[in-house]
This record gives sequence, C-alpha cells and structure tokens, in this order.
Amino acid sequence: MRRFTTFLFLLLLHTAFGQNIFQKAFNTDIRPFREDLSISFKDKDGNETSMPFSIIKGKTDGPVFTIIAGIHGFEYPPIVAVQAILKEIDIDRLKGTLIVVPIANTTSFYARTPFINPLDRKNLNNVFPGKEDGTISEKIGHFITSSIIPVSDVFLDVHGGDAPEDLIPFVCYYNNIKKPEQTLLAKKLSEKSGFQYVISYPYTLSDTDAAKYTFKQAVQDGKTALSIECGKLGNVQEENVNLIKKGIYNMLATMNMYQNGTGPHPNMIYYNNQSYIRSSAKGIFYSDFKAGDSVKKNEVVGYTTDEFGTVLEEYKSPKNGIILYKLATPPINVDDMVMCISSNTDINNEYPTFDKITNMTTSSRKELCKLYLQRYAQKDLAGVEAIFAEDIILRDWKIRVEGKKKALKETKKNFEAAKSIEIEILEMHQDKDTVAAELKITVNETEELYVVDVITFNSQGLITSIRAYLGRGDE
Ligand SMILES: [Zn+2]
Repeated sequence: MRRFTTFLFLLLLHTAFGQNIFQKAFNTDIRPFREDLSISFKDKDGNETSMPFSIIKGKTDGPVFTIIAGIHGFEYPPIVAVQAILKEIDIDRLKGTLIVVPIANTTSFYARTPFINPLDRKNLNNVFPGKEDGTISEKIGHFITSSIIPVSDVFLDVHGGDAPEDLIPFVCYYNNIKKPEQTLLAKKLSEKSGFQYVISYPYTLSDTDAAKYTFKQAVQDGKTALSIECGKLGNVQEENVNLIKKGIYNMLATMNMYQNGTGPHPNMIYYNNQSYIRSSAKGIFYSDFKAGDSVKKNEVVGYTTDEFGTVLEEYKSPKNGIILYKLATPPINVDDMVMCISSNTDINNEYPTFDKITNMTTSSRKELCKLYLQRYAQKDLAGVEAIFAEDIILRDWKIRVEGKKKALKETKKNFEAAKSIEIEILEMHQDKDTVAAELKITVNETEELYVVDVITFNSQGLITSIRAYLGRGDE
C-alpha cells in the first residue's frame, strides 16, 4: 500500500512538473487573461539565466500570435518596440492570444554583448532546435522549440542590425514551397506589414536538417513564421521603434486579432536573392557605402587594412543590387559578414502580391512556376526537388525522362554544366493546371537560349510535367 502511494505521489509530481509555468499559464481557460512571468534556466556548467514572457488572452478566442524580441540582446529597437506594445495593448480589444517574449536573451542584454550569450559564447539564433540538456543557450532554444512554437499559429522573431551593423528596415520570410499555405500567409503578413522592403529567402532544408535560426525552426515545424529586421548599430532610433510597432500592429490587424493597422506601404520593393560578402582578412575595415545604397557588379565596396595601413583585402560586389545590411564599424575578423547584397532573380520586377493570388488551386500556378524558375536559376536542387511530383515527366529537345529521380538527375547535370543561369520571363500564360512560360535563359552570362516551358501541376501544386521547346529570339 505504501509503495503504491509513493508511486501515485511521484506520478502526480511528475505531471505537475511536466507542465512548465509557460504551459500552465497558456492552458488557462480564463478570458480575458494576462500573466507576466519569467522562466529560469540552469545548465550543467552552473550558468543561470531567466527569460520573461507574457501570455495575453483577449476576450474572444482566435489565433495565437507569438512575438519574440531580444534573441540578440544588443538589438534594441525590437526590445523597445515590444515594450511599447506590452504597455499599449488593450486586452478588451484583442481577439485570440499573444505570446510575447520581451527579451529572449537577457544575459546578452544586461551584459551588453552583441550576437552571443556571454555565458556559453553561443549565438542563440544559431542553436535551434536547441538541446534539453545542453548549454544555457541551447536550453533556451529547446524551450522555445518545445513549448512556444508548437502552440503558435504565427511566429514573429524581431531583430535589427546588431552593434556593428548598418541595415535598412525590412520584413522577411522563407519561400517554403512544401508548406504553401503557411508560406502564402507569411508573404501576406509581410506585404501588409507596412515595411517597404519585403525579402524572401529560398528554403532548402530537408525535414531532418537543424534549422539553426529561431524563426526558421518555426517554419521547419510547419508554422507561419517571419521576421522583422529594423534598427541598427546598437542604438535606439525612434523611427525604427515606430516602424516595428506599426509592423506588428499591421500583422495583428491582418490576422483580425487587433484593429490598429495602418495598411501596407504604398511602394513595396521585393527582393528574393541575397548574396553575402565575407572577409578573409583580419584588420581595420573601411567602406563609404551605407545600407540601402545600390551597388554594381564588381564594384569595390570596401577594404581592410592591417594595423599599419597596408591594404589586405578589397571587397567587390558579386552582382548588381542594394545593400541590405553591412558591417559598419572598423574591427573586422576572418569570415565576418561584410555585406548582404540583395537583388531580384525574379525576372519580372513585378512580383505577384498575395491579393492577386486569390485561389491556391488555380491562380497560384503562375506563382509556383515562378518559384520553380527562381530555384532553377539559383541552381537550388533541393528546392527543385521539393516541387517535383514523384511521377514527373521531363521532356526537352534532347531528352525525355520519367520519374522524380531521373528528372532530378538531368536537372543536376544542367546545374553542374552551368556556372551561372539567369532566367528572364518574357511571357507567361495559364490555363487551369498548366502554365506556359516564354523564357530567355542566359547561361554563363553569354549563351542565350529562347525556350518555352510548358509546366503542368497536379492538385497538390507539384509539377507533374515539363515540356521545353527551343526557339529563337528576335535578334
Ligand atoms: Zn539579430
């Protein structure tokens, strides 16, 4: 009997502890409800920290929207903007639930440490999905992955330029074709956010790859996730704080959770192809360029000298584009990111907006076709693989193959044979499940091919057939 009682007691204790304080607050049925709490972490090296969070449940049920700031503790505008939201939000006007993490990396914040948590020297935005028994950063990552992401419908991670970084404000999401609904919602939220620059990244992870980044983990877990990047140089700029606030309110309005939106930016600019310049020198960095400047291919955008002024390395832009963010202070180390240069491989500068995609089953075929061509131009084999159906038939003026494996093998051959592929869409027509695209393809910057691709999609939005016809241009 005694043994039985002990067993029962342990079982109850285990259940109580199995539900952490976050889950306990989140699972309450009380509405409206607000609780401001903090969860503690301790790792086996004896490092301790805590992470504050608020659960805010509006009067009526609705989506769960998570907002995280301070994954990087030196990025202040996101932290200050989230403070303002926590203060302003009127619970009686809120529909659904907000999960707000005001500062995810409190140790980095209070120690004024850029990028990393000084306790374990790890970058919290590089440890996802995290580890239950790992170092302090890995434990925080694991908590976010295992407790916060699973209950979120929308997951927003807010960043800015860190202490040494200049950056133009933008909103970004992953073009994850494996989850078209979530991706289209992320795109819609980005477009409605009020930010002028809407950036998308290709999504090339397999289902078992570690996501590393916080909001990429949420994408990997099938959530609608996106990120704001706003603020720079370890300072609080009021205009950037306001942009972030506006962005969050616009997203909440788009989700019909809170009506305080101001509408989209009247002149949105889309970029979907980011290139990075990295340093191979350690020394003193110089650049006359600012974030937002346009650069030309092969233009010298900065240089590094040793401590005596001798130039060690010059940095050239790999392409035409604009500087999304850049290193903006003198110290530079080997492998540091010098600049991120963004451009649009998409071809027509007019990228279709969410409002034009009214029906996933029909009108998004053009969008999917553009994604395929974009991935093809980026030689993104994993991305192409994700949108090929198992029974795909690939046929051009040279070959005909059946099945995904063989089609991918041919695609890979083409990728390996070409140093660079540029695709310009000249015309695009759609009829039910089939899109015909008239293309000018430039291989290795010199060889021009005029091709018509006729691409058919199945009901899941995967490509079942590509028929390519070779033609000629006007010249
Ligand atoms: Zn950051």
